[in-house]
Amino acid sequence: MDCAKCGEPMRMTDKNSFSGRDIREYKCDRCGHEDWEDNGEALWQILHNDREEFEAAQALEATAEAPVAPPVPEQKPVISMWNRIMRVFRRCR
Ligand SMILES: [Zn+2]
Repeated sequence: MDCAKCGEPMRMTDKNSFSGRDIREYKCDRCGHEDWEDNGEALWQILHNDREEFEAAQALEATAEAPVAPPVPEQKPVISMWNRIMRVFRRCR
């Protein structure tokens, strides 16, 4: 980044990303002009978003694949579980 006043290349004096944005502060050694630059989202924020997007994509893939999957008779265990619950329920009465 060059100084807006004298055009000298500025020195980076500070860098913070606590707000989720990558903010860099610069100072011109020649005229003392200070400036800052918003480099957009901070790296950790980008990584965070990437992960969320990745998980969202995975979830989408899972739902997209669901109808293609062969119809497995998955109701059986549910019924036996229900029967077991009903048996326990009846025994209690
Ligand atoms: Zn300057």
